[in-house]
Amino acid sequence: MTARRILFIVIDGLSDRPCPELGGRTPLEAAHHPVLNRLAAEGICGIMDTIAAGVRPGSDTAHLALLGYDPHTYYTGRGPLECAGSGIRMEPGMIGFRCNYATLSPAGLVTDRRAGRIADTKSLSRAVQEGVDLSGFGVEFVFRSGAGHRAALALKGEGLGHCVSSNDPKKDHAAPLAIVPVRDRVQDRKTAEVCNEFVRQSQRILVEHPVNRERLARGENPANIVLMRGAGEMGNFEPFSKKYGMEGSVIAAARLIAGIGSAVGLEEIPVDGITGSQESNLDGKIAAAVRELARKEFVLVNIKGADESGHDGLVAQKKAFIERADAALAPLTSLRDCLIVVCADHSTPCAIRDHSADPVPVLIHGDGVRVDDVTEFGERTCARGGLCRITGAGLLPIALDLVNRAHKYGA
Ligand code: ZN
Ligand code: ZN
Repeated sequence: MTARRILFIVIDGLSDRPCPELGGRTPLEAAHHPVLNRLAAEGICGIMDTIAAGVRPGSDTAHLALLGYDPHTYYTGRGPLECAGSGIRMEPGMIGFRCNYATLSPAGLVTDRRAGRIADTKSLSRAVQEGVDLSGFGVEFVFRSGAGHRAALALKGEGLGHCVSSNDPKKDHAAPLAIVPVRDRVQDRKTAEVCNEFVRQSQRILVEHPVNRERLARGENPANIVLMRGAGEMGNFEPFSKKYGMEGSVIAAARLIAGIGSAVGLEEIPVDGITGSQESNLDGKIAAAVRELARKEFVLVNIKGADESGHDGLVAQKKAFIERADAALAPLTSLRDCLIVVCADHSTPCAIRDHSADPVPVLIHGDGVRVDDVTEFGERTCARGGLCRITGAGLLPIALDLVNRAHKYGA
């Protein structure tokens, strides 16, 4: 029998380097994870360079590669994907930015880059959307609040480039920077002008806004300036359903991953209580994935907590999160008619607190796979598996072949 559906479980930043605290084991090697071991024992394993050997992937470029969209073609910056993830309908050619609300002192210095960790900025964003006018440039825009102090901005208009700098001084008690073109092209000069005008007009609105007056009266930092970065041009993504002949869904707390899903036409499935952090509702994610597989041929689930622990350098926390994720995967062992793929998008070693190019472990479980001798899911054990060392661009094609959806090349 051949499976007909594909489930991708991406455990973000899962893999690591040997940790002295764990006697030279990685958090994945040291963790108790019977479910992953069972899937590995019943499946085929390998290791994977998500983009290419020696390339340190971002989560965004890694997920694009895993979905078969070459990041060298499709990735110009994080902004447009964040915009898509925050619910803005991004069209090819629109310029997207990640933004955050910050506090500007009367002396003109950014004194708090998170605006007192403001919880809700919706009314501020609405005022900016209604009050800022960029029509003099022939530009329309959509400005949306994200979680906490975050927001997203998308520009639409003729002759806009995406090669512009950020106004974020990247440190507190510094003046915001002017946004400048980073290439000497007329379209980038225009975008820089539009951005500076957006910042100017929005600031005037924010300073006067009742929410900020009230925050000041309570002794809280006002959210009175928008910092923007990550400029990129929205690519022209061939829809996933057209490319692969499968309908798909994405389940992810991280807006960036949801945005990638939405950019390629995967339906986002909301799940209560998912946070992209340690306490996220992982059982809810897996239950939603199993439900989705009854109506879709492809489901991508991103589980984020291990990456967060890696960035924070917390070895014990990362190990504990992996054990929690493993327990949440238990319902998958009784899933029928489905090819299960488990991998990381990149390594996030606790020792370096950032992503590294170390290859990630991968397993494929389901009918038809050539079961190998690997019985433990780990960075080193998987390196001895039957998949050997593959690239991220190869993973979905391998899965498609196993569900008999690959096109024959030649006669
Ligand atoms: Zn990641
Ligand atoms: Zn990360």
